[in-house]
Amino acid sequence: MDWNKLAEALITDENVKPLEYYEALYPERALEKGAQVTRLAPSPTGFMHLGNLYVALANERIAHQSGGVFYLRIEDTDEKRKVEGAVEVIHQSLKYFGVAFDEGADLCGDYGPYYQRQRAEIYHAYAKELIKRGLAYPCFCTEEELENTRNHQTENKLLPGYYGEFAKCRNLTEEEIYENLKAGKPYVIRLRSQGDVNVKHTFRDEVKGEITVTENNQDVVILKSDGIPTYHFAHAIDDHFMRTTLVIRGEEWLSSLPIHIELFKVLGFRLPKYGHNCSIQKMDGETRRKLSKRKDPEASLTFYREQGYHPTAVRKYMMTLLNSNFEEWLLKFPDKPIDEFKYSIGKMGKSGALFDILKLNDVSKTMMATLNESEMFDFLKAWADEFGSDEQKSYFADRTYTERVLALCMGVGGKKRRKDFVCAKQAVEFISYFFDETFCPDYAYRFDKQTVKKVLLGFKTVYDYADDAQAWFDKVKAVAGENGFATDMKAYKADPAAFPGNVSDIAEMLRIATTGLANTPDLWTIMQILGEERTLARLNKAIGNL
Ligand code: GLU
Repeated sequence: MDWNKLAEALITDENVKPLEYYEALYPERALEKGAQVTRLAPSPTGFMHLGNLYVALANERIAHQSGGVFYLRIEDTDEKRKVEGAVEVIHQSLKYFGVAFDEGADLCGDYGPYYQRQRAEIYHAYAKELIKRGLAYPCFCTEEELENTRNHQTENKLLPGYYGEFAKCRNLTEEEIYENLKAGKPYVIRLRSQGDVNVKHTFRDEVKGEITVTENNQDVVILKSDGIPTYHFAHAIDDHFMRTTLVIRGEEWLSSLPIHIELFKVLGFRLPKYGHNCSIQKMDGETRRKLSKRKDPEASLTFYREQGYHPTAVRKYMMTLLNSNFEEWLLKFPDKPIDEFKYSIGKMGKSGALFDILKLNDVSKTMMATLNESEMFDFLKAWADEFGSDEQKSYFADRTYTERVLALCMGVGGKKRRKDFVCAKQAVEFISYFFDETFCPDYAYRFDKQTVKKVLLGFKTVYDYADDAQAWFDKVKAVAGENGFATDMKAYKADPAAFPGNVSDIAEMLRIATTGLANTPDLWTIMQILGEERTLARLNKAIGNL
């Protein structure tokens, strides 16, 4: 077989450059010894899984702590999985969590293009090289033939795939190949595997430690019939030419490792270090299972942005899942920036990382309680601007007013911090009654309308914005007394049946009238924040409703 001739017939020299050209175009990176070049290489599916953040954080930490480079490569070889706007989603979601790329798709960088579809020429050059060396060949098998082989293998409990006796096109004669080409039969290019499944090797996985890897014997497709490479082939060439030194990726890729090892070998490239991290799991009742894109809303990164989880809280929690000694470090240095933590691959979990949203919520509550007035305002505003309703957006038009609301409702800036706010959405919903745009009370009083009306009218006549808390309360008491309600709690407790209620019931009526709620922070302060005009308007509205 004249392999050179076949290589030229399949991929002409016109379409590719000599291999040295690519080596010169993408030289070794000038980095300090020990610096790691890592990457995130997602497919543009439009869905960012929590696992993507997990892997991204590990790769980002390792690259940046070692003085290396972290880049983004888009693996878009599978047209069917591609979704419009997906790269934007990748950038947005990771940026939110503070994951910064040094180079990559839609960013600058000397090792691009960072979209695989734009790198076709390099893949063709190397496919051609493999054909020349008799290490790749055209395969003309039809979908139907492959399906028959699959069925035969299943029925006979044989290993699936294109190998050995099932690799029908592996041994086509020169004549057969040219005849097929002449007939215009579509073909793919397959690797001529040199491996043997009976041979096993010990492999050092950076996360899992020593593992056993069986040699690949599959003649995997390297170029599809439309000339687009498969992920396996493209990733090997890209990791070589982007000078990746370490690949941390999900353990679902472990089964492809034998193929990758063989591809690097036949291509003559140095294999990067690989670490396969465990999948993220959760408890589902008594059973532990993988976090599922279909079943669990919290599997999507969008979920955390839509709910308004503080990015630092999510990062902190993810770090506790990623590195077993992070929590201890955080307890010791709660105020240090988390990037000062020394990340280590050796401390990554070898089996499933158990994700517990309640723990994340705890971390979030603690985090939210550390924000000062302007940080809280900016954080909630940023959430509302992106995910809130128009009314919620308008909450942030008056900074002074809203900061006072936050100080009262959440204790922001004060000594009594509330620690029960998990996310921005919850906090913004909580303050809704301070804003007329969303103030729509259902006035659920516990007393009859007439009593309430008398109380509200009575209070309205004596209400004075200038009253301090004590003077204000004295007036509430006076209204209570006028309506026969107990003003002295001792007297009330001694004989509750003697009164329709006590002063706190009066305060509740006023509270419901002005806020719509039976439970709120201090009512005098609320009225101070609402201001005289708005307080009176609300009292009038409530009276009108009775
Ligand atoms: N494109 C693969 C993915 O979508 C990346 C696998 C790898 O990191 O090698 O996850």
